[in-house]
Amino acid sequence: MSDFDYDLFVIGGGSGGVRAARMAAQTGARVALAEEYRLGGTCVIRGCVPKKLMVFASEYGEMVSDARAYGWDIADGTFDWGRFRGQLDAELDRLEGVYRRLLEGSEVTVHDGRARVTGPHEVRVADTTFSAKHILVATGGRPALPEMENAELGITSNDIFKLDALPESILIVGGGYIACEFACILHGLGVEVTQFYRGAQILRGFDGEARGLIAEEMQQRGIDLHLGTNVIGMMPEGTGVRVKATNGSERVYDKVMFATGRTPNTDGLGLEEAGVALGRRGEVVVDDYSQTRVPSIYAIGDVTDRVQLTPVAIREGMAFADTVFRGQPTPVDHALIPSAIFTQPEMGTVGLSEEDAREAGPIEVYCTSFKPMNTAFAGRPDRVLMKLVVCAETRRVLGCHIVSPGAGEMIQLAGIAVKMGATKEDFDRTVAVHPTVSEELVTMRAPVRTA
Ligand code: FAD
Repeated sequence: MSDFDYDLFVIGGGSGGVRAARMAAQTGARVALAEEYRLGGTCVIRGCVPKKLMVFASEYGEMVSDARAYGWDIADGTFDWGRFRGQLDAELDRLEGVYRRLLEGSEVTVHDGRARVTGPHEVRVADTTFSAKHILVATGGRPALPEMENAELGITSNDIFKLDALPESILIVGGGYIACEFACILHGLGVEVTQFYRGAQILRGFDGEARGLIAEEMQQRGIDLHLGTNVIGMMPEGTGVRVKATNGSERVYDKVMFATGRTPNTDGLGLEEAGVALGRRGEVVVDDYSQTRVPSIYAIGDVTDRVQLTPVAIREGMAFADTVFRGQPTPVDHALIPSAIFTQPEMGTVGLSEEDAREAGPIEVYCTSFKPMNTAFAGRPDRVLMKLVVCAETRRVLGCHIVSPGAGEMIQLAGIAVKMGATKEDFDRTVAVHPTVSEELVTMRAPVRTA
């Protein structure tokens, strides 16, 4: 029996923390977990899950008009935000209950409250201090508001799920995936959406051609996207916000949403006092095994600011449990992580963008863009894009980028091939599935560019 209250104390009941706690408890370790808000964390309560349900809700409008083109006799529907929000709240309550039961079933002791590290082996929750052989920091991140006067007039992604009513108009500030996804969602739900992004193109870091097509498609659907544009001043006006912009425009929006980045949750956590190193943005600095400078303290997930995705936080949690509780030192492989952006149209991507691959050596680019059968039949001008970036020397597919409805589902499967090191010739010798959009991935014969 050790001298500690617990073998492991996990701070944060989100994707990473919950998985690590359960995996450690399965080895017989005595595990506690503290959560200050709701079990499930960002992903379940104010991230992936409610967002994806809103994506589904927002897609029905177009489906109704497409259905008419396919011969269905359907009246125009109206969207009832109140009814949807009621269903959404009930679903999130259900999922939170599932997470609590999973932890209890694994015999993890849950402390509902804010935790603070008070030493290399000590955690304090409310008035009680607990000792633990190991501490795992899995506190995630939060949306950051820009430093400007009246920034608090804006809302963030945290607030979107709790709106009492949908605004008639919204300005979304930011060009990352969260900004673009909410621009598409809210537009699909009937909100008049304006988006400002200070850079030259949205979705920085992703493949240039794919970003360009998404921007075009968003504009063509009716999102008023302004690139190279930022907010310079905000004032309350009536129930809305008057916004002055760098492009000289000035108007009142019902709501302004900032999606301008996320900050790791390390403020007031006691980490630096305990000897843990933090990076420039407040992220916990860890090694390949998620260990901090203090040997008994580890950190995983968004708070480490490596790759901010749920499956990555989960992987890091499992690798931590293997390393510390199963005696199997396991680094997390952050290479070739497939991911999706749930804009309309969706994007699925794995590996290097054309721009990054070109820096690394000679490449061949295979790319096609066309109107897919489904929406073309309904008279819509939507285009999709399929792209492979291939190393000219090894023939390996270095990057695969898909912009299309269902791209998130497609890239999960293409990701396996890319992760296995598939060459362009491996793609070519795979027989096409016809008629599908993704068959183009295995039928592109000649490169459109070499570099
Ligand atoms: P979190 O899930 O943030 O959990 C941290 C938990 O710690 C929180 O519950 C918090 O309340 C708690 N906490 C913080 N401080 C303390 C404290 N001192 N004491 C006790 N508890 C504390 N990822 C995807 O893979 N796909 C997506 O489609 C996707 N969509 C997203 C959409 C949005 C709008 C957002 C914001 C994020 C999205 N993400 C998505 C990212 C994903 O949600 C995160 O990467 C993931 O939740 C990180 O998990 P985590 O365990 O590190 O942290």
